[in-house]
Amino acid sequence: MDELNYQIDLLTALNQKLCDSERMYRLICDTSNSAYIFMNFKQNRTEIIGQFDKYFPFQINDVRDFSRIFDYVSDKYSSKLREIIFLEKTGQKFDSFEYCSNIGLNWYECIVCVFYDEAGIPLEKIIEFKNITKFKKQNDELEYMAYYDALTGLYNRNYFVGILNEWIRRAVIDNAVIGVMFIDIDDFRKINDSLGLVVGDELVQVFGQFLNEFKSENVIVSHFSSDIFCMAIYEPCGLRSIENICKRIHERVQKPFVLTSRHELAITVCIGVAEYPEAAKTSIELINCAEIVMFKAKAAGSDGVQYFDAPIIDEFLQNMAIEHKLKEAALSKNFELYYQPQFDSKNNHLRGVEALIRWKDHDGNMISPSIFIPIAEKNGTIIPIGDWVLTESISTFAGWKQKFHYPLILSINISAIQYKRADFVQKLLFLLDKYHVDSKEIELEITESILIDDFTDVIAKMYMLRSHGIRVSLDDFGTGYSSLSYLKGLPIDTLKIDKSFIDTVASDDSTKIITESIISMVKKLGFETVAEGVETQEQFDYLKNIDCDNIQGFLLGKPMTSENIELLLLRNI
Ligand code: C2E
Ligand code: CA
Ligand code: CA
Repeated sequence: MDELNYQIDLLTALNQKLCDSERMYRLICDTSNSAYIFMNFKQNRTEIIGQFDKYFPFQINDVRDFSRIFDYVSDKYSSKLREIIFLEKTGQKFDSFEYCSNIGLNWYECIVCVFYDEAGIPLEKIIEFKNITKFKKQNDELEYMAYYDALTGLYNRNYFVGILNEWIRRAVIDNAVIGVMFIDIDDFRKINDSLGLVVGDELVQVFGQFLNEFKSENVIVSHFSSDIFCMAIYEPCGLRSIENICKRIHERVQKPFVLTSRHELAITVCIGVAEYPEAAKTSIELINCAEIVMFKAKAAGSDGVQYFDAPIIDEFLQNMAIEHKLKEAALSKNFELYYQPQFDSKNNHLRGVEALIRWKDHDGNMISPSIFIPIAEKNGTIIPIGDWVLTESISTFAGWKQKFHYPLILSINISAIQYKRADFVQKLLFLLDKYHVDSKEIELEITESILIDDFTDVIAKMYMLRSHGIRVSLDDFGTGYSSLSYLKGLPIDTLKIDKSFIDTVASDDSTKIITESIISMVKKLGFETVAEGVETQEQFDYLKNIDCDNIQGFLLGKPMTSENIELLLLRNI
């Protein structure tokens, strides 16, 4: 009896365990969000488990009901799904397939598992349906972000480079040409600053849409960033020739783009063009070349096209190298000052000296200030360099004054960027005070280009400098606006007539007429005159004759070290 009771208890316990585990599996299936179909082939039993009613509005009672599943599947995927659902026909154990529904365009994954006996006869099968719409959407978004630019919907830079790489591989085989166009909207920053980022963004969008009209099997269009676009053309010719595309772009942008904000914006763009294989053999180099030549087009003014030209790239690379070395030199103050004498044309007395900077780079190459000063102005190193020139020239000048007591003017070239700094006058006055130099002995050489922006501020600063007794000289006169009429309003002391006039002043009659009228007019305004770049006695005699006050040039003295200026001062005392 005890034995029977024991067996009953055991069975009850086992039964309870079985119920518990079945309950657990059901719970898992019901909460999993998937729908399952279980099939037992021997018993010909089919059961649905989990969230089946969320997937299909019918029940599956036996295998004949399976065909109803395909009523809810997009036609494109039905035959493949049929293969998966009846996987036992192929003898496979496991497979899965992603498909799309024909209503609501949801995405599903169907996973099928078949269990076989030792003889390979199917015993059981589990079919799982999983809704993967959300996951698929996220995946699509990630994929979109990987290929497309969010603002314009055009290809992004990475994808563009990828396609260009493929094209280059193809072009090697086809012996084909690929044109790359780097396109940049002129003055885009001004549009952004004046009309706001939203308007700027919309302009980029509509301009991008316009460029996308060129897109074809052989033309790709991409938005790199901000207002920069890039196009690549496989075998440019005929309608898709670079010339034709550039012409159509330039024609279109002249007509205003109408934005939703009701702004109507006509723009101009600059385009740089580089072609494979002439300019470069890799996609990155091609894009870089097109970008560099685009900068050249920008420098020449707006609305331009610049084709690849090796010297432009060389110059750019040289400037980059200089820029790099210049940053180091600006820190280590690796410069020297030379001084070029200026003489009074009447009595040949030394009137003053112009401080001219010299830079020898690490490799011992002398780099001309006409090359490195514009680079220093662009990258901001002109400020420490200019400060160094002020300190060095004023302290050297103070030494000469102490030694020789000779009345002399020190002319210092001042870059526009340096001049426009708020602390410029203060710095200068501090140095004059520190080295006990009389402000009347200092002349600042500035060029007409300084007047382009902030005319009023620039003039106000000139008045301020002059109120401290500091002289102002207008350098390179004749290379800028060259208008005599605007000179009237300028508070300057000296006018320097540019070398380009002096070069032909003794030989060309029209230059003679112009120079004479400049000098007589300037005299009436009360300015002193300096002719620069005087190389011949003929030029000197002529200039003296027409009453030019001072002469500077190789004829009378090249730029020289401060020691040589001291020797000159010794002779002049
Ligand atoms: P710039 O101010 O017009 O200086 C005159 C330039 O003409 C100097 O060139 C000088 O060496 C050269 N020169 C003078 N007489 C003759 C001549 O008879 N024949 C010939 N062929 N050339 C002559 P440099 O020293 O190479 O300076 C070039 C430019 O670099 C200067 O033109 C000036 O714009 C700039 N620069 C030089 N030093 C400084 C500086 O300390 N600060 C700034 N901001 N610019 C400077
Ligand atoms: Ca000068
Ligand atoms: Ca000059």
